[in-house]
Amino acid sequence: MIPLHATCLLTGNFCDECKKKIEERKFTGEDLKVLKAMVKIANKVDINSVEIFHCFEFEKFFLILTISPAGLLIGRRGRTATFLSKELGKRVRVVSISDFSTTLSEILSPVQFKIGTVYEGGKKYIRIYIKKESAQKLPANIPKLKQAISSFAKREFEIVFI
Ligand SMILES: [Zn+2]
Repeated sequence: MIPLHATCLLTGNFCDECKKKIEERKFTGEDLKVLKAMVKIANKVDINSVEIFHCFEFEKFFLILTISPAGLLIGRRGRTATFLSKELGKRVRVVSISDFSTTLSEILSPVQFKIGTVYEGGKKYIRIYIKKESAQKLPANIPKLKQAISSFAKREFEIVFI
């Protein structure tokens, strides 16, 4: 379900109800771009049960993190994703949030990584190890990736190149 009014998304003039929801759910400009694209394709495909978490505009694609199964926004033979890409002017990668490692592997694909847990100063955090030679295949720069990962990570993390 698109959580904001279609008219508000299309015009960019948000009513008080939408403004409140944007604040509550911390929707960013990138989220709003994707939600607007969803409004535009809603008459062509059934995306009623799609629930968006957060979206991130990477260089090569829009990363769309969903709470609902990813397939709902990809559609049969990728039909929904194709319509979305046309609206957004960029490919889309839809990832449904599940456990940390699975979600991360879908975001970073094709780059592989290893995860370690580090205890330091009584604090526990996650360390993501990525091979130096894969760095150039990453789908976005490190700050952007960190922003996306932080949105669903339940614990602090760091990215280390080995
Ligand atoms: Zn509204």
